[in-house]
Amino acid sequence: MNCFTCSNEAYEEMTKEARRAYPKECCGILFGREREIRYAFPVQNVVSAQNSRRHFEMDPLIVYQAECEAEKRGMEMLGIYHSHPDSPPIPSSEDLAYMIPGISYWILSVEQGIEKELRGYAKEPDPKKPVPIRIEKGAAASCRF
Ligand SMILES: [Zn+2]
Repeated sequence: MNCFTCSNEAYEEMTKEARRAYPKECCGILFGREREIRYAFPVQNVVSAQNSRRHFEMDPLIVYQAECEAEKRGMEMLGIYHSHPDSPPIPSSEDLAYMIPGISYWILSVEQGIEKELRGYAKEPDPKKPVPIRIEKGAAASCRF
């Protein structure tokens, strides 16, 4: 599978939100073109407080509005991200159950409030196998799994 790229801007936005939401899960949408993630759009996690350490849910109206905005800028929704506070970036059974083809799913692990690792997944061909990503941090970018 071709490597996804993630702009430094999108990565910074995700990590900022994940730190802010800790120890709760944060979530949001990733926009860009083809396999190029250009920006992250944080969406409030609407799951009740006692469940938000392990679950996330986005307001469908906000998601729809964000998609319309992105379309105006010639971009599309490439993926959905959420954080895993104090747990590895591996999809839970619930994460796997909600995956749909054509969208990538990104999980950022956060330990003690500090981001650790970002991994992406796609329902096809194998929802449990991370997809390669390159985070564009100037010249230091390298493709990793
Ligand atoms: Zn999850």
